[in-house]
Amino acid sequence: MNQPQALYQLQQIDLQLLKRQKQLEEIALKLDDNSAIQAAQASVDVATATLTPLRAKARNLELESQSTQTKSKDTEQHLYSGNVKNPKTMQELQQEIASLKKRQQELDDHLLEVLLEVEEAQNALDHAQKTLDEVKERSESDYRDLLIGKADLQAQIEVLGQDRLNALKPITPESLKLYNALRGRKANQPMSLLNGLSCSLCGIEQTMNVVQEARHGHKLVPCINCGRILVYK
Ligand SMILES: [Zn+2]
Repeated sequence: MNQPQALYQLQQIDLQLLKRQKQLEEIALKLDDNSAIQAAQASVDVATATLTPLRAKARNLELESQSTQTKSKDTEQHLYSGNVKNPKTMQELQQEIASLKKRQQELDDHLLEVLLEVEEAQNALDHAQKTLDEVKERSESDYRDLLIGKADLQAQIEVLGQDRLNALKPITPESLKLYNALRGRKANQPMSLLNGLSCSLCGIEQTMNVVQEARHGHKLVPCINCGRILVYK
């Protein structure tokens, strides 16, 4: 194996390493992302915030209705007890009873409306809670899959790291220096296979002299167009 071929082998390992590392970063982002759960939880919070005051309102109306009813009955008992003889007082009590009954009817009508709103809000909360449970369950399953994928990638990266050490062995310090210098400028692909008479990455046909030198592989010959080192395999 000559230097260009050894560098090409290194490049293929490095490309695999980059790919795996990028996949690992994507998994890390997904593992951190709990936006779906947060959104579902927010819906539950909104539904709860709607339901709670409605329930309190219904409870207050119920209590007020009960106390109005009690007051009305007490007044009736007082009126028919036989203790009230004064016609004017009797008339006042009858008016008060009528007023209390009217008030109770209003309260009961209002209560019925609020109870319907409570029912609606309760349904909305049940629905939001069910969605949250489903999202959580799905997330847990996704999470497990992501952890498996992560462990798999880490194992592959470890193997590639070992392959890289082996691939470095035949490479001279000068060759490696050039490879590293070109890597950044050539989108991590400083090496390009010779495809017939052309550079496989930029597609430009080389001079016969360049092709011959690249085929010999005694030195690092750059593509006349893109400057990548040509590899004959
Ligand atoms: Zn080229």
